[in-house]
Amino acid sequence: MEQRNIRNFSIIAHIDHGKSTLSDKIMQITDTVSFRNHESQILDDMDVEKSHGVTVRSRTVRNLYHDRNGQTYELNLIDTPGHVDFSYEVSKSLSASDGVILLVDATKGVQAQTVANYKIAKANHLPVIPVINKVDNKNAQIDMCEQQIYDLDDSLIEKNILHISAKTGLNVDQVLESIVEEIPQPNGDIDAPLKSLIFDSIYDSYKGIIAYVRIYDGKLRANQKLKFMSNNQSFENNEIGIFTPSLKPVKELHSGDIGYIVTGIKDPKGVRVGDTITSKLEPTIHAVPGYKPVRSVVYAGIYPKNSNYDDLKMAIEKLSLNDSSLYYTEDNSDSLGQGFRCGFLGMFHLQIVRERLINDFDISVIVTNPNVNYRVILNGNEAINNIDNPAKMPNFSKINSIEEPYDEVKMKVPSSSMSKVMDLANQSRGILITMDNDSNLVELTYELPVAEIAYNFFNKLKSISHGYATFDTKFLEYKVSDIVKISIDVNYSPVDALTFIVHRNNASQLAQSIVHKLKYVMPKKLYPIPVQAYVEGRVIARVDIPPLRKNAAVSGEKKSISKKQALLRRQNINKRKISSANIILPQRIFDAILGI
Ligand code: GDP
Ligand code: MG
Repeated sequence: MEQRNIRNFSIIAHIDHGKSTLSDKIMQITDTVSFRNHESQILDDMDVEKSHGVTVRSRTVRNLYHDRNGQTYELNLIDTPGHVDFSYEVSKSLSASDGVILLVDATKGVQAQTVANYKIAKANHLPVIPVINKVDNKNAQIDMCEQQIYDLDDSLIEKNILHISAKTGLNVDQVLESIVEEIPQPNGDIDAPLKSLIFDSIYDSYKGIIAYVRIYDGKLRANQKLKFMSNNQSFENNEIGIFTPSLKPVKELHSGDIGYIVTGIKDPKGVRVGDTITSKLEPTIHAVPGYKPVRSVVYAGIYPKNSNYDDLKMAIEKLSLNDSSLYYTEDNSDSLGQGFRCGFLGMFHLQIVRERLINDFDISVIVTNPNVNYRVILNGNEAINNIDNPAKMPNFSKINSIEEPYDEVKMKVPSSSMSKVMDLANQSRGILITMDNDSNLVELTYELPVAEIAYNFFNKLKSISHGYATFDTKFLEYKVSDIVKISIDVNYSPVDALTFIVHRNNASQLAQSIVHKLKYVMPKKLYPIPVQAYVEGRVIARVDIPPLRKNAAVSGEKKSISKKQALLRRQNINKRKISSANIILPQRIFDAILGI
């Protein structure tokens, strides 16, 4: 297809606003898929992908659209992930698009992820087609939605907002017309050397890694010798093709096209999203720019539970293929064995990774307590950067100071909830930098420790402001902070996986709540088990887990109470000696701790 008849676009929306339904409807209108068997939500069918291996259905799809004037267009819908924690992932798929449909549910209005995704589209300088969906619903509030869309950005006021029902198909044809009219055609040079951007990838057990690419310049042919721009590694593609949405081989792709390359590479680290693929014999000079390296915000250990390390390893490698924002290295823990230290974009990302390990790979894991990374200055002034694992924190006697990462956080909040937001920021060790009044909105700029915002800050902010606050973060710097390590001993031996790094002010309260949680979740033994929390060599919290109630092996009931107790005591000591120091920690311990 000629570039002037190609349009590459994405749909951005808050979860449940109808992205999948609209994608399906577009495929239906363009006859991309026949709906005779009426499979609902074709694009969400992950299980189909799994069971069919190579006939995988992409959620990126090419639609052929015949417009009113008899022209045929190739409309490539590029799928984006839905959640705000994945803004990196969104920006990665948006970098392959030339424009976006901003979809808003008429019954809900603009919501958090609508705003977040819109910002990413704007940062990518993409034209936006605003669309209000679900107008068939009797609770639709179209005027309210229009106003909220205009409030999102003044420049949208000149836009005509479409009112559609993705479900019934009402006005979806107008969406297709707008895509053709408002989204620019690709403008690559078909005669230049091949330049293609990897915006996604999947692992296929037969074919190896399949890279999803946007061709910027030149032509890509089947069985061509290719190479990655990042590391000059060369390979020959075994197959190239398009998304219909099943993978369909073709002989050639050219500038403007969206397609896939079967690389034949099996090592999940061998293909990186964001990299540029070019021709080996006639390479391009510059890679596609604009990829920022990912910044992990929280780190946690992931260890196999009831499954083996090799299965977990394969699963994590495959996950990281799909999710280039997942960072991992191998790690070892005395109490949990061989596993991984992983870095995540946020807590939600951690949760999703854990769920995908269970749902997609059937692997259950133990996830240790999350933390940010720290910088330590030793007494001799030597600095250790990137301590992402509490177990790696040096002994306190060697430490001169500890620095923790701070973000600059800009919040726009309704003036009615300003004081509550300021309380929240203060409790989170925030430093107020500026405060600007803009009619009934106040813009607050704070410096906040990443550790404080990584976990629950956003949810609290949303609830205080009844959903109206917006929140923007940018890494600022590492600042010296009064940070301490809490170590936990169970039965007098340290449990490395239960080590926490916290601000000193929070240490005592956290230590108390950890040992008390442990009291309820630790499996009981025949003898009492002491659980102690230490900071800088001092015990700051302790509980004794009571022994199992036992039928005291006391001969006869006639003996005096004191003799009975003496006997029990002796028995305790013996039992403790007999049992190896090994205390097995069940997952519920880590679940309980993670819940703090
Ligand atoms: P996604 O999370 O953005 O992909 O949202 P879905 O496409 O899965 O839609 C979420 C829910 O909204 C589903 O139950 C859909 O049936 C429903 N839905 C989507 N579009 C419409 C619409 O135009 N009208 C009505 N009434 N419901 C819709
Ligand atoms: Mg969906």
